[in-house]
Amino acid sequence: IKNKSKQLAKQSQPIAHSAVLGAGIMGGGIAYQSASKGTPVVMKDIAQSSLELGLNEASKLLNGQINRGRSTPEKMAKVLNNITATLDYSAIKHCNITIEAVVENPKVKSQVLQEVEQHTSTDSIIASNTSTISIDYLASHLTHPQRFCGMHFFNPVHKMPLVEVIRGQHTSDETLATVVHYANKMGKTPIIVNDCPGFFVNRVLFPYFSGFNQLVVDGADFVQIDNVMEKQFGWPMGPAYLLDVVGIDTGCHAQKVMADGFPQRMSLPSADIMKLMFDSQRLGQKNGQGFYQYI
Ligand code: NAD
Repeated sequence: IKNKSKQLAKQSQPIAHSAVLGAGIMGGGIAYQSASKGTPVVMKDIAQSSLELGLNEASKLLNGQINRGRSTPEKMAKVLNNITATLDYSAIKHCNITIEAVVENPKVKSQVLQEVEQHTSTDSIIASNTSTISIDYLASHLTHPQRFCGMHFFNPVHKMPLVEVIRGQHTSDETLATVVHYANKMGKTPIIVNDCPGFFVNRVLFPYFSGFNQLVVDGADFVQIDNVMEKQFGWPMGPAYLLDVVGIDTGCHAQKVMADGFPQRMSLPSADIMKLMFDSQRLGQKNGQGFYQYI
């Protein structure tokens, strides 16, 4: 991967302006990361309340840095100045890259990606932060699929170094090179992966969630499981807390995609803890109650 990245670096185009669609957990995080590493970003959503949440999250992170003596009010103002929050597509016109981070729904994403194509020039790049939806499927709705790929960040974006750059069947080398370059500029570690259900990380993560599900069904206490994984095994968080951070809705959807993609290895559990949580609208940190209570 490293050798390929070096070869590709020669073909990359500079990114002076970027855009993010969706100001939720991920979109807000990606916009903050881009702005704080010096690339101005347009953050577009369909709801004013989401834009405000996205900006508030960025302010919280920046205030935290000031409190820890790692930033100053001047630097904070500069970063916030780099984020243009909008409900209007016209602001993305001059962006060199647009990263789509709207809800994990194939129809909504396909529609949004087509809209991006209509509002950007043909030499700008479009990337999707989808966790599970096939890049080739999304590309099939585009007129210029060569300028499209996956750019999968992890939550929380400002802390997690990895970015999966997903190559679709039609993704050009130049597109990959530019996205790899931009990920590096954002302070991230990109890896290039082929298009398949779950890409790389979720192929590792979902069998783990499946093991967690089975333990709970067999009578284990999820708090104890988290404690063991965190305190004894040394992971930063256990599976129940991680699912709360990711969002139970997002997790449920991804679990289904994995089950459809690998029916023999990843079939849906007959007693499905994530589905039970989803049905009772315990969505995790995003609505204040998941495995744990947050309000
Ligand atoms: P979220 O529900 O927090 O945010 C989604 C945002 O998209 C909302 O603000 C919503 O208003 C906005 N939106 C919906 N339709 C839109 C449209 N047509 N145009 C513009 N904005 C629109 O979701 P999230 O957790 O940030 O997930 C976003 C994407 O990132 C999904 O594809 C998800 O699979 C992926 N992802 C999520 C995580 C995670 O841990 N949550 C991790 C990696 C990738």
